[in-house]
Amino acid sequence: ADEEAVRPTHVEVDLTTLAENLAAIRTHVAGAKVMTILKANAYGHGLVPVAQHMVRCGADYLGVAFLEEGILLRREGITTPILVLGGIAGEQIPLFLKYNLTLTAPSVEKLRLIDEVASMLGERARVHLKVDTGMERIGIHYYNAETLLEAALSCQHVEVEGIFSHFANADAEDLGHARLQVERFQEVLSFYERRSLPTPMRHMANSAGILQLPESHFDLVRPGILLYGVYPSQECLRTITVKPALTWKSRVAYFKVVQAGHPVSYGSTWQSDHPVRMITVPVGYGDGYFRALSSKSEVIVRGQRYPVVGRVCMDQLMVNLEQGTAYNGDEVVLLGSSGGQCISAEEIASWAGTIPYEVLTNINTRVPRLYR
Ligand code: PLP
Repeated sequence: ADEEAVRPTHVEVDLTTLAENLAAIRTHVAGAKVMTILKANAYGHGLVPVAQHMVRCGADYLGVAFLEEGILLRREGITTPILVLGGIAGEQIPLFLKYNLTLTAPSVEKLRLIDEVASMLGERARVHLKVDTGMERIGIHYYNAETLLEAALSCQHVEVEGIFSHFANADAEDLGHARLQVERFQEVLSFYERRSLPTPMRHMANSAGILQLPESHFDLVRPGILLYGVYPSQECLRTITVKPALTWKSRVAYFKVVQAGHPVSYGSTWQSDHPVRMITVPVGYGDGYFRALSSKSEVIVRGQRYPVVGRVCMDQLMVNLEQGTAYNGDEVVLLGSSGGQCISAEEIASWAGTIPYEVLTNINTRVPRLYR
């Protein structure tokens, strides 16, 4: 990108850090393959550049949420296998085949439809069977799963390459439910042994499973948040060291002194009882800086943390420097490290009453991403 034309409000993604995080995960899971999860614009880091980088770093598989994300990657020339994790609409099946995307088969009905469409088009569909072991999202219930595994044996135009499940609480301190999910999955998998059939590629572990449940690593793991250097929860064991790869920055657009008793921003919700120095920063909820952060968050300017005061607007927000100093054009760090200070996605999440996943994925596409 032409750096001159880049908005002062932008995201910087450190590709070396992403590579190091992937390497740390790979070492920890020993022989298991790694599917890098790239949904939601690669957790806000930028789908295509991150995917290309992951491929260069040797990712074995890429995981996306829906068809269009997979097509975008194929159109960019990525040839690494891609699993679309979400449910699929029947009419989309031909596009999966056209773009060589791996389908998730969550029910017997869907599997048979995939088989039928593939047969009509004279193709073979690559699928991963989805078993629900306790998330109640998509997938055949573990207690009925044998019907899906059985049905797959008679589908001539389907290659069952994988079989997977997903955790509901692998990031919790109490791993009772997660362990029960692993046991249920193992029970389902025993089908292949009982029938003396080769077992497809088995996978279950998201980031939390990778960190806390080695028995869930199976043949492949599916890290999302951990790849980006963020831990899934406060409670989750930190058995791997990773570093955040994303910094969200802007610059001071305006400096002023606000007099005592003069309210700031929409709704006049905040005022000072003494004169304060204040800056305006060109970022707002239209960029994904939550309005819920109004008078709740902090930013870093010249190595100091200062509070955001008054309501966050669509494109701008105000920061109270009290008696501190800043000049027009000074860097403002909204998320990330600067001058010995750090504002993490976790911290923003706690101010906004959400989880770090949402902080990252919420950064709007109108915010340019720069890679270094
Ligand atoms: N696997 C599936 C099926 C998912 O839906 C997700 C994300 O929610 C992941 C893996 C990655 O999860 P995490 O970001 O917690 O590692």
